[in-house]
Amino acid sequence: MTKTQDYYKILGLRKEASLDEVKSAYKKLAKKYHPDLNKEQGSEEKFKEVLEAYQILSDPQKKSNYDQFGHASEGFSGFQGFEGQQDFDFSDIFGGFGGFSEFGSMADTLRQAFSSRNRTRNTSLRGTDLAVDLSLSFEEAAFGVEKNISVTRIEECSACKGKGGKGEETCVKCNGSGVLTENRRTPFGIFRTQTTCPKCGGNGKTIKNICKKCSGAGRLKAKKNIKIKIPAGIDSGNHLRMEGEGNAGSNGGQSGDLFIVIFVEPHKLFKRDGADIFTEVPISFAESALGTKLEVPILKGEATVKIPAGTQTDTIFRLSEKGIKKISEKGYGDEYVKVIIQTPKKLNKKQKKLFKELEKEEKLAKKRKNFFSKFRHSD
Ligand SMILES: [Zn+2]
Ligand SMILES: [Zn+2]
Repeated sequence: MTKTQDYYKILGLRKEASLDEVKSAYKKLAKKYHPDLNKEQGSEEKFKEVLEAYQILSDPQKKSNYDQFGHASEGFSGFQGFEGQQDFDFSDIFGGFGGFSEFGSMADTLRQAFSSRNRTRNTSLRGTDLAVDLSLSFEEAAFGVEKNISVTRIEECSACKGKGGKGEETCVKCNGSGVLTENRRTPFGIFRTQTTCPKCGGNGKTIKNICKKCSGAGRLKAKKNIKIKIPAGIDSGNHLRMEGEGNAGSNGGQSGDLFIVIFVEPHKLFKRDGADIFTEVPISFAESALGTKLEVPILKGEATVKIPAGTQTDTIFRLSEKGIKKISEKGYGDEYVKVIIQTPKKLNKKQKKLFKELEKEEKLAKKRKNFFSKFRHSD
């Protein structure tokens, strides 16, 4: 069937058509194209189209999905074990003609699609992933560290090896079929719904001697200590993935993964951006004016930075490769040192005298500058 066809067009309806209109259009067209009545070529295809259009447009939920999403929304997922024998809707169309061959085969296809979907529920399931937060000091993150973390997770029961017990017997609830079938009468016919047997989980078999340790679940909550190696250079927002250290799977499914989400605590002296670190160092007026050799903190101890004469406040000096080890490539980041010129808050007598002399000298220098600038016609 071409999936581009419009269900409303197939039934010759407007989009606003009522349920009664959908029903009557379907009855009319189903009679017209039913392969038992119409031997023309293509009538069978046409009949299937009409049936499909009816199944969608007569169901408010499916209709609304179709109106919103078109053909992408349907497929077999919407059907629930359609039965060949229906009540009025179908019997008054097909009644007396016998041989529901076309309809029967389609119903079979739908039923198969439905039951195979059920079967997949009983296959093994992978365990879920777990995530734990881990706080590291600035240095631990910068240099790497080994940590022990405690994780509460679901593990396979060691007593029954995840089987839940010993020995098997046929499930008494579903008689070994793994499914429970229920016929539901609705205004549109009798629908057979199948659900996975809750007692055996669809296996058709239950355990004879249930494991005492896990009460038959095959899995247990357990606390586990895990040692992890944190690589140098890790940062907030990074995570480590430990394969298979998450929750245990069921029915032989593999375990999930454990994610360790990293938080790096701030440092008193350094700020960090990736592998680069930043710090601020105060210097005095005299040091900045005259130039100096400045001791600055680095990750491991101290380094000397040459501050040239006439350095202004907020000037940044770069210390190449003095940052943090890069995590995804070779090498290290840099350290950036910003110098902050400190205005003295308290002066002793001698300092005061020297500053006054400095002030006098500055005033003289200013006068000289103004005097010369008059001749230059500048400023
Ligand atoms: Zn057990
Ligand atoms: Zn069962």
